[in-house]
Amino acid sequence: MPPITTRFAPSPTGYLHIGHAYSALFTAVQGDKFILRIEDIDQTRARPEFYDAIYEDLEWLGLNWPQPVLKQSENMAAYRAALDKLIALDVIYPCSCTRKDISAMTNAPHGPEGTLYTGTCRHKRLCDMDEGTDYALRLNIDAALKHIDQPLSFYDHAAGKQDVNPHLLGDVVLARKETPASYHLSVCVDDHAQGISIVTRGDDLIYACHIHRVIQALLGLDVPEYHHHKLLYDHEGKRFAKRNHSVTLRDIRTKGFSLADVKAMIENGDYLEKLGAEGL
Ligand code: GLU
Repeated sequence: MPPITTRFAPSPTGYLHIGHAYSALFTAVQGDKFILRIEDIDQTRARPEFYDAIYEDLEWLGLNWPQPVLKQSENMAAYRAALDKLIALDVIYPCSCTRKDISAMTNAPHGPEGTLYTGTCRHKRLCDMDEGTDYALRLNIDAALKHIDQPLSFYDHAAGKQDVNPHLLGDVVLARKETPASYHLSVCVDDHAQGISIVTRGDDLIYACHIHRVIQALLGLDVPEYHHHKLLYDHEGKRFAKRNHSVTLRDIRTKGFSLADVKAMIENGDYLEKLGAEGL
């Protein structure tokens, strides 16, 4: 039997906080093999100190993982190959609409990632784009569905079997002119290549499975199981943000809390009182 493989996939755009600790520790106990992947496609937001801090914080949590660690910024050839397959299926089109154009589409329905793109650029072809124009590459979901002959679903350990609504996110961006991948494409390629058995992440991302299943079906990728877990919330009921320094693992450590303290506060759900009581 192959090992049950799970992964923790942070982006190096800030210091890890108590919500990440919950997610990483949760991930590690779901399987036999724990993989760390660095999701750093967006190089405009990634910073060197955050890569090192991820390793340091996860080691402090008592986790270990096989080397080398996959950094998505170094895996662009794999995403390019996947994108080329989708282009060959004729399901990708270039879209030169700006954010402003899209937010002006006031009659368009809204989805979990904002305005659903209504396909204004669907008629455009890559060969028609001139050098100077910037564009995103979008999945034409109606064209994509012509290649898929069965209804799709996915299994989530918390939510159960879910039927896919392929239109949930509209025509998503899968790449950009200069970058052959977006989150949605790279995550499907990597979860397949790394043999991930159970994808674990916060339940704010469960909606993304609806498009991930379509991408997996188009590219013939393995379909993992999923386990979307609860998120930890701050005093205002908002999920923790990386900019909220008071709950970063390094601040918690500096204040003298031990790993056992962190595990206990996550387990008991009294992390806000405990961190607040220490004046963090
Ligand atoms: N890179 C994402 C994050 O830091 C995680 C996405 C995933 O686990 O699929 O929130």
